[in-house]
Amino acid sequence: MLETAMRYSHTLLKECLHEGDCAIDATMGNGHDTLFLSQCVGENGKVIAFDVQPQAIEQTKQRLAENHCHNVQCILDGHEHLSHYLAENEPIKAAIFNLGYLPKSDKTIITHSNTTIEALNALLQHLVPTGRIILVLYYGHEGGEEEKEAVLNFSQQLDQKQFNVLTYQFINQRNAPPICLCIEKK
Ligand code: SAH
Repeated sequence: MLETAMRYSHTLLKECLHEGDCAIDATMGNGHDTLFLSQCVGENGKVIAFDVQPQAIEQTKQRLAENHCHNVQCILDGHEHLSHYLAENEPIKAAIFNLGYLPKSDKTIITHSNTTIEALNALLQHLVPTGRIILVLYYGHEGGEEEKEAVLNFSQQLDQKQFNVLTYQFINQRNAPPICLCIEKK
């Protein structure tokens, strides 16, 4: 069976990440992606993870501890400030965003197009060749459609000489089927 957008995001990450790499989880949420990245880069690698909600940090730290992962820096701050936490030319191999709100939590705390795009611009400065930025776009909520359009627009305009940009979506599903978007540096 074809993979869901979420599963496919992991396939795309796994293909490009290797032991020792540095990766970013831009939206920790409940920490599933953070754990996945941590396992992909191994103990010689590093993951830097962001969220604006203390409960996301707590949940993620607990999940990482249960799985004996010690290579993650969990940061309570917006991903738009990510360059504050990276060295000037720090090479980043992959990053993942899950846009929208945290399920079963405060639905008013959502990602926003301006800060998402700020984070993307900052990340592009650090992405190494063959590195990938992956976004899983959920947009069924209020404000989601605007963010989806802005992110798609931004990505579509990236220079094809420098980047490959891919979208993956089930187009016959009802209710705003999520989109997996991948920006790969050539
Ligand atoms: N909709 C997805 C989950 C999205 S979780 C799903 O259904 O699986 C999105 C996370 O992004 C939330 O935990 C939220 O707190 C976080 N977030 C919102 N704005 C952010 C920002 N500026 N920087 C980092 N994380 C942010």
